[in-house]
Parts: sequence; C-alpha cells; structure tokens
Amino acid sequence: MIKKELQKERNTNDLYILTEPLDTTNKIVIDIEEVADYCFCPQYYRFKHNNTDTINMKTLYDKAIHRTFYSYLISFQEGKLKNTLGFLKYQWGKEWIKSKSKSNLLVTPSSLKRDSYDEKRRLGIKAIFNFDEIMSSEKQIPIVINHKYEIEILPNIILRGTWEYIREVTLETGGKVIQIVKILSESNRFYTSHARQNDITLVADAYAFMKLFNPTYFQVVNIDVSNKKSFISTYTEKDFDKLKQTIQSVVTCIQNDINCWTPDIKCYNCEFRNDCNRLFQ
Ligand code: SF4
Repeated sequence: MIKKELQKERNTNDLYILTEPLDTTNKIVIDIEEVADYCFCPQYYRFKHNNTDTINMKTLYDKAIHRTFYSYLISFQEGKLKNTLGFLKYQWGKEWIKSKSKSNLLVTPSSLKRDSYDEKRRLGIKAIFNFDEIMSSEKQIPIVINHKYEIEILPNIILRGTWEYIREVTLETGGKVIQIVKILSESNRFYTSHARQNDITLVADAYAFMKLFNPTYFQVVNIDVSNKKSFISTYTEKDFDKLKQTIQSVVTCIQNDINCWTPDIKCYNCEFRNDCNRLFQ
C-alpha cells in the first residue's frame, strides 16, 4: 500500500507529489536542514541560509555528488541502468568537470588541500566506485528518490524535509522491509555513531514517513559511502518529542534573533571557517 502510494506519481518533478501541499497561511515554515544547521552553529546557519553570496567547495561538492547518486537511482528505477559504473563516471564528469568554470568563480577560497577542486574530483571518483559497490550488493527496489515532504509538526509550525531515497530491500532471511535512506557522501569525524543516532534530519524523515503513511514497520538507514558501511537507526516517541521541542526552540531563537555561538573544535571542520570572524574574537 505504502509502496503504491509512493510510486504513484514518481515521474513528475513536483516537490510535494506524495501529499497535498499544506496551507501555510499564518504558519511558520521551516526546513529540517535549517534546524540542523542552526543547532550545529547559529553563525553557520546564517552563512548557509541568509548569505547567498557565500558558496563554498564543500556545498558544491555535496550537491554535485548527490545529484550523481540520484541520477543513478532514477535510471535504476526506470530500468534503464546498464553499465552502472560507466553511468556514474559519466554523470560525475558532467556534474563536476563541466561546472568547473562557473564554480571557480563562485567558490570561497580555501587554503586547505582537501577543498581544492581536483581533490574533490578525486573524492567524487572514489565515492562513485563505493556507491556502485554498495548498491550492487543489495537487492532493492527504489520507491522514491529525492522527494520533499511537509508536515504540520506543531500547531503553528510546518516542517519541510527531503526523503533522499526510500526503497524496499530483500533481507537475507527473504523478508522485505521498507527503508528510508540517507546518503553520507563524505566522512566527517564529528559524525560519530552517537551523532548518527541523534541526527535530527533522520528523526524528522522517520517522523514524517510514519505520520503520512502509518506503516507497520520500516527502518532508517544511513549509508556512509566513503567507508562503505550502512547503519540502521531506530527511534521512539521520546526522540519525536525531542525533535518537536528542538524545532520549537530553534524557531523561537531565529524569530528573536538569538545567536549564541562559541568557536570550538567543530570550527576546524566548518566550510565557512574562512569567512567567520568569530574564530578571531
Ligand atoms: S567557523 Fe565555527 S563559529 Fe564560525 S560558522 Fe563555522 S562553526 Fe560557527
């Protein structure tokens, strides 16, 4: 039933195909990515969501490699995927090499080698090899790819988010399970198992899926492409309550322009470190 509903209008590009868009009159609309970024650092949130002039290599890379993955999954879903690695190489070349001239102009300069254009190109090649290996090793049926959802999470707040990939997987036991998948393209030492289990974007994806489709059972899976590993997370009502409280708090802080941030170890992994004067105050 869920599968049918989800697949129904797969081929349209409408962002809200799975549910009717909600009436947002007199409501606050916030995306879960904004909430997560604000929790990471309010200054980071401002750079990413308020300062559209600041585009950096990490953001560009993330978008390009995810678009490559989505093209692969869509082609797979449509039954057109043949030479899987060849397809990925072509897509990655198209996404990264072709956009080079434009990106060179837009990208924030960074002195770090890991942020160089060629370093990201190589990282992307490694990522597509790993992604192909991971996807080829699992028996799966794609259901939806890169689809937005929205849900009234609190009486005055509408939460938006994106399901990157929902699939039906055949387990070794022969059983089938629906999985909500998040693809992590680049390893990050701050994304520990604890951080993964408490990743607010995953909790939101699970909550929205549960509320909109009322499934009897499903799993939330995080695929770490760089390490070729998958992790299954489970969430309880307590996690969903924390999610709602966090969203309410972030909305209150943003509305009241409350910005309390301190430079700490996370700054060394922050793509805005070159623009952020907080590091030097
Ligand atoms: S460098 Fe640190 S304080 Fe500045 S935006 Fe990044 S995480 Fe926040």
